[in-house]
Amino acid sequence: MNIYWWGVLVLVVSVLVGAQQSPVPVEQEPHHHLVLKNDSVLVVRVKLLPGESTLFHTHLYDRMTVDLSDATITRQKPGEPESGPETAKVGRVVALESNGPFTHLVHNAGKATFEALDVEVLHRPTQAAGPAAGKVEAENPSARAYKWTLAPGATSAMHTHERPYLIISTSPLVLKMTDPEGKSFTHEVKAGDIHWVDAKVTHSLANEGTTAGQIVEIELK
Ligand SMILES: [Zn+2]
Repeated sequence: MNIYWWGVLVLVVSVLVGAQQSPVPVEQEPHHHLVLKNDSVLVVRVKLLPGESTLFHTHLYDRMTVDLSDATITRQKPGEPESGPETAKVGRVVALESNGPFTHLVHNAGKATFEALDVEVLHRPTQAAGPAAGKVEAENPSARAYKWTLAPGATSAMHTHERPYLIISTSPLVLKMTDPEGKSFTHEVKAGDIHWVDAKVTHSLANEGTTAGQIVEIELK
């Protein structure tokens, strides 16, 4: 092999090694798909088939994860052994606080597809947050999460969001939202659908369908 081909070989090997070792920002990781990015939040949806792993990727912000499937996953930080198995469950909300850049990978160690949303808070409003809109399911310094589990025909308490929030359906649902004057909107939503609301809102949430449904709301602090 002449010097030229040695150069090409060294380049190819270093690119392959680099691809395995250099972490990427979460929104550039190939299994994470960008769903929403605005001034306040970055939302990515991760999907891993059984046996698949993400690349090492880096999170920079306080964040919440919302599982969209029942699955078994493990996690791994660079240079450390793989974690023990962790059970993901539809509607599970995990609040994580950032202490600087955090790099890891996620591996689907089970037999079912793993799907989840990752909501990263880029900027909070400058003024202090008011009271919570309901029972707090999970929180970190940047956001609170509420979870509304709705049997067919059930309606949540009327509640007020003083802060911008993201509404997430973790199941297919015929969702009826009603304001205090009785005006309502009905939407047929799929598992993983999201909607960002940057306004003060008072509403109740009702399940107009025939199967159980669940809504997670992530509200900025
Ligand atoms: Zn609400």
